[in-house]
Amino acid sequence: MINIALDGPAGSGKSTVAKTISKKLDILYLDTGAMYRACGLKCLNEGVDVKDAENVEKVIKDIDLKIYYKDGAQVTCLDGKDVSTDIRKPEVSMLASTVSAHRSVRLKMVEMQREIASSTDCVLDGRDIGSYVLPNAKYKFYVTADSKVRAERRYKELIERGEKVDFDALHQEIIQRDYNDSHRDFAPLVQAEDAILVDTSYMTVEEVVDKIISYIKEG
Ligand code: C5P
Repeated sequence: MINIALDGPAGSGKSTVAKTISKKLDILYLDTGAMYRACGLKCLNEGVDVKDAENVEKVIKDIDLKIYYKDGAQVTCLDGKDVSTDIRKPEVSMLASTVSAHRSVRLKMVEMQREIASSTDCVLDGRDIGSYVLPNAKYKFYVTADSKVRAERRYKELIERGEKVDFDALHQEIIQRDYNDSHRDFAPLVQAEDAILVDTSYMTVEEVVDKIISYIKEG
């Protein structure tokens, strides 16, 4: 199987790049952040505090979460409902960040991710794909950018989607999520030793995609 791991902080451009690479190479794209977002949404729906490890474990243990593909795009289905749009809401981002720090949640999601990656060629984006989920992935990239640039990208994306957002609050949220993600005890956000660093601050999506694909072609 060809597995391409794209890790990095929020808003680094990973998902756009991963989607484009999956189309160019005609392989699957797995957005692992969507899975943690669905876990955050599940807690919200059930009225469970995302910090409450015991109750989070109970509610996520038997989560009805399905990932499937429709016209090449990932659909995230929670309790039989397509939540692909709901999980993108800014308030779900922080819930996902907090809930994803629980070991029980990660073990459950990682199991699903490994199952998908072992059965199909795919590009996965996340935080710990190269360092923890698929340490033997053939290709690993750590995609990052300056936090302000990342906040500007997210801001544009959300405004285009019709969401009402405050730039400074969004920037702070990104910094907080970076901190949470890189300081959690279990499988934190980290550049794998053998991952190639790509700083996208001053690069277009096309430039990033070309750079990554050229590394892949070089083998
Ligand atoms: O990538 P995205 O911003 O959608 O991810 C939402 C949250 O899910 C992140 O802030 C992070 O806490 C968590 N996440 C994770 N591991 C992954 C993917 C996402 O912890 N592989």
